[in-house]
Amino acid sequence: MAQTDHPETEDLADIRASVRALCANFPGEYWRKLDRERGYPGEFVTALTTAGFLGALIPEQYGGSGLSIVEAVAIMEEIQACGCNGAACHAQMYTMGTLLRHGSAEQKERWLPAIAAGDLRLQAFGVTEPTSGTDTLALRTTAERKGDHYVVNGQKIWTSRAEHSDLMLLLARTTPREDVMRRTAGLSVFVVDMRLAQGANINVNPIRTMMNHATTEVFFDDLRVPAENLIGEEGEGFRYILSGMNAERILIAAECIGDAKWFIEKATAYAKERTVFGRPIGQNQGVQFPIARAYAQMRAAELMVRDAATRYAAGRDCGPEANMAKLLAADASWAAAEMCLQTHGGFGFAEEFDIERKFRETRLYQVAPISTNLILAYLGEHVLGLPRSY
Ligand SMILES: Cc1cc2nc3c(=O)[nH]c(=O)nc-3n(C[C@H](O)[C@H](O)[C@H](O)COP(=O)(O)OP(=O)(O)OC[C@H]3O[C@@H](n4cnc5c(N)ncnc54)[C@H](O)[C@@H]3O)c2cc1C
Repeated sequence: MAQTDHPETEDLADIRASVRALCANFPGEYWRKLDRERGYPGEFVTALTTAGFLGALIPEQYGGSGLSIVEAVAIMEEIQACGCNGAACHAQMYTMGTLLRHGSAEQKERWLPAIAAGDLRLQAFGVTEPTSGTDTLALRTTAERKGDHYVVNGQKIWTSRAEHSDLMLLLARTTPREDVMRRTAGLSVFVVDMRLAQGANINVNPIRTMMNHATTEVFFDDLRVPAENLIGEEGEGFRYILSGMNAERILIAAECIGDAKWFIEKATAYAKERTVFGRPIGQNQGVQFPIARAYAQMRAAELMVRDAATRYAAGRDCGPEANMAKLLAADASWAAAEMCLQTHGGFGFAEEFDIERKFRETRLYQVAPISTNLILAYLGEHVLGLPRSY
């Protein structure tokens, strides 16, 4: 296919080919059935884990593949380009990073090998709350130290995959906002073992959304979390979560590039084959040019994603690039989705073409994990030195 012609190392080409081979076992009808039933793609997630793809970023000493984000980008992009949905499991790749960077040696030994082996899933990431939204520092869930435990009370919303995860990475307030010296202090990160408390001190309610995303709201009622599950230092959790945001943005951006490639390939094939007025519709510039434009937009965004990933892998600062990658890639996938639907005319709306499903799925990335406006605000303030807007 024309859009995968960047020079890449042999390793990346091999990874892409392996991901494609795995994804071939999960065709459109598999995803359509799940979408209809709002089911979780458990077999797909298990297959990815067994093949070692979900443990790509876990170091070899903990049973992972010890690869860099460059390889992780290739994996996530390829999953989407094959028409599958990595949203079912992508969080494990970036939430695990918080544990890896800030967890103790004992914590890493306790959880990482089991995550790499697929015995434990760390798919749930509890940050967003109904009243605070994007303003994370305003979150209200508290974790109060009582002896060798913390007692957690509060509510999270949009905690995706909570019903299909053993562990949750939770951000909660350990010092009241009015008592902290720094605006960003007073929040802490915990690994919560949800298996022990489901139904008693944790209640998880699914939220039905326009796409199949296994997202939920989670209520904590006097949940006891052992103090040994605190990651790093108490009160420094916001900093730890922020340190994982660049990886999250780069990986989601890669998924958007994969989506865009899928839409472009579908539209191109259809425009060549569909004949109306005695000629292929793709012969009309009104049909051809939007496909060409979507392709150019995707390629430009792809360069930014690769730049961000290369910087991240080299340990260089990549905040602006990671944010721009997410912005441009989400725009590229959404533009490609719109173009693909239009190219297919009425058939674009038919379930069996998978386009309406992917269209709904890719729309999310304008809003989550960070909305477009907040990325623009970041660029305005931190890159261009404009006044802080919020
Ligand atoms: C399907 C789905 C899955 C998700 N999964 C998770 C998850 O697993 N874990 C988790 O913690 N969260 C998750 N989220 C939450 C997601 O990260 C938030 O929805 C997102 O960050 C936006 O926050 P909000 O919905 O509260 O919007 P709000 O903060 O209420 O913002 C609403 C709108 O106002 C705009 N806005 C707000 N403030 C400003 C400002 N200062 N300047 C300009 N515009 C502004 C925003 O851009 C947005 O368009 C998920 C969300 C969805 C929909």
